[in-house]
Amino acid sequence: MKTLSVCQKCNSLNQVDSEKAKSKKPTCGKCQSELPMHSLVSEVDASALERILKKADRPVIVDFWASWCGPCKMYGPEFEKASTMTDKAIFLKINTETNQALSAKLGIRSIPTTIIFNQGSEIKRQPGALSASGVVSLI
Ligand SMILES: [Zn+2]
Repeated sequence: MKTLSVCQKCNSLNQVDSEKAKSKKPTCGKCQSELPMHSLVSEVDASALERILKKADRPVIVDFWASWCGPCKMYGPEFEKASTMTDKAIFLKINTETNQALSAKLGIRSIPTTIIFNQGSEIKRQPGALSASGVVSLI
């Protein structure tokens, strides 16, 4: 399966082979910079999210987090683990501190919040931290 990530340096949208990304940190096909990925979770901003939603061939699951949020720190590794357990969705994370306009637009009131998008629209929203298997069963 292929997952998607956007290079933070040159802004290229990259297709990343999921199996290869599990063992080696993927690099941008255009500028060779390391892609902002943790396990199979790509760190994106509002515009990268929009581009990925347009290109995605399956649901996109997003962890909305913040650096000051304690439960987010516990949830991050679980979300990353979940990304290696299923390829039914593309996994992304968005920092709500640096993407405040998007967070306001989506009406995110508590973090962490997990949102699943399909064909560009929100289909499911779950506030609070989950276990890795909890994330997988959400999809
Ligand atoms: Zn690049």
